[in-house]
Amino acid sequence: MTEKEDYGMRRKIVIVGGVAGGAATAARLRRMDEDAEILLIERGEHVSFANCGLPYHIGGEIEDREKLLVMTPAKLRSWFNLDVRVRTEVVAVDREKKEVELRHNASGEVIRETYDNLVLSPGAKPVVPDLPGVDSEKIRTLRNLLDMDSIKALVDGGITSAVVVGGGFIGLEVAEQLRRRDVAVTLVELLDQVMPSVDPEMASPLHATLRDHGVDLRLGTRVEGFKENGAGIGVNLSDGTTLDTDMVLLAVGVKPESDLAQAAGLEVTDRGTIVVDEHMRTSDPDIYAVGDVVTVRQKQLGTPVWLPLAGPASRQGRVAANHIAGKTPDRFPGVVGTSVCRVFELAVGSTGLGEKALKEAGVAYHRQYVGPFFHADYYPGAVRITVKVLFSPTDGKLFGAQVVGAGGIDKRVDVLSTAIHAGMTVFDLEDLELGYAPPYGTARDPVNFAGFAAANRLRGDVEVAEWQDLVDEEDSMLIDVRQPEEVEEGGVPGAVNIPLGVLRNRMKELPRHKEILVFCGVGQRGYYAYRVLKHHGFKVRNMDGGIMLHRMVQPPA
Ligand code: FAD
Repeated sequence: MTEKEDYGMRRKIVIVGGVAGGAATAARLRRMDEDAEILLIERGEHVSFANCGLPYHIGGEIEDREKLLVMTPAKLRSWFNLDVRVRTEVVAVDREKKEVELRHNASGEVIRETYDNLVLSPGAKPVVPDLPGVDSEKIRTLRNLLDMDSIKALVDGGITSAVVVGGGFIGLEVAEQLRRRDVAVTLVELLDQVMPSVDPEMASPLHATLRDHGVDLRLGTRVEGFKENGAGIGVNLSDGTTLDTDMVLLAVGVKPESDLAQAAGLEVTDRGTIVVDEHMRTSDPDIYAVGDVVTVRQKQLGTPVWLPLAGPASRQGRVAANHIAGKTPDRFPGVVGTSVCRVFELAVGSTGLGEKALKEAGVAYHRQYVGPFFHADYYPGAVRITVKVLFSPTDGKLFGAQVVGAGGIDKRVDVLSTAIHAGMTVFDLEDLELGYAPPYGTARDPVNFAGFAAANRLRGDVEVAEWQDLVDEEDSMLIDVRQPEEVEEGGVPGAVNIPLGVLRNRMKELPRHKEILVFCGVGQRGYYAYRVLKHHGFKVRNMDGGIMLHRMVQPPA
């Protein structure tokens, strides 16, 4: 018990940063403690705004700018009795005296405030690479409402072209919204794929969709510098070409705003993120930190991870507030890493560990793909989606999942995230009871399908081969069990077409000394063919994911 509590004095909490993590902490704290003095200090003009909605106002999908102001300072004051100070920056922390130094941005006035507890939620700022010409006015980043306003003003003013640098969430969302406004967009990405949170083959449908919507996609390309040219700007690329454009959006990642914490001597990682314990306490137990500025625990591996996303920021704020107020739950359990993003008509989502993370951690895994309809195929608008699950080859424990397609992606990612949080196996996925009506799903949901396919494999009901590993086609015979009209739309070179319906009658055409590799559109009929041939004593494997995956694993154009 502190001295203040002994004497019944009000506890004073200063919160740095008034948006996702900071505002969540302040509001929860007030709900848990009606008496505490709570200061919410925000450097910018706005508190509690919807950062995640910013791209959609640029494109006009969210028409009303006011809708992005989730809470105003006035509302926070009246609803939660918070002392909200905007345009005010916390410039120093004196841990000895338990004081912070505040500078009012307009007047320059500097004052000091004491604290019993300090909560840091300063977020992360866009990375601006040190490149020639990068300080041009025509280069923008997107973090807050003012950034959004300035980009929207350019679009409203009639710019006709833009270069988006970086193919992560923000780059993709802004590219989509600029196309909505008929701006010609070139998206330049250093890697061979966009959306690095998913494995490369799962990003490949996004590439096709971006191009279909007129985005000039430059993968594997580095921006080397910028040069203003009259009204526009030239973007110099690593392939020696220069893109002339009206505007550049830099969306190459974010970095934690931990300068204040570092200056105060709090422990940070090599990356600059603040180290916290499960209560969100920093190395100084009176100071908490939440949101994009902290490293937390990857739940499955138990290793530190940086996941700058809104959901964790908000939940961490709740945990910090609970711990300060002596309430529960006051432990942040860590993250598995779940995200979803829309890219035109497609969506892509991922949860848990991807292949890169599993390899780095030295964890043995199987991968399994299925391509079911996201809702009943007889109901209008049915399309196939791709679900990939990564799981333990021994006990089937689910490690990760990724989903891409044009319907129902968010639902599947969230179910699979819940399954990972609960420590489920692929056998559990077979049994999950999920809501079904024709417009929403299928009686056997895509998540069940992923479970069936993975569990079949672990039980030995099917052996699979993977396009990624196919090297020696001499020793094997590839059989396409689709209908001839499907094959006409595209097949695999060297494959023989024997439709599933006639397979039993044409078995004498098949060699017994070679391995037979069967495939179909997505893997399901291939599995049926596998069972037929296995029963008849053939050496056979099913090509996982069928033609769907064959197309996805092709190297990017
Ligand atoms: P922030 O919300 O960034 O708030 C930090 C605040 O602290 C800032 O307003 C800053 O001005 C203030 N500050 C910093 N230093 C000081 C100081 N010394 N004194 C006073 N104030 C200070 N996440 C998702 O999960 N899904 C999405 O779809 C998504 N889309 C996004 C789209 C965009 C365009 C952006 C920019 C982010 C998006 N995010 C998304 C990320 C999400 O917004 C962040 O993870 C979340 O806002 C982090 O909360 P935070 O409190 O740590 O930081």
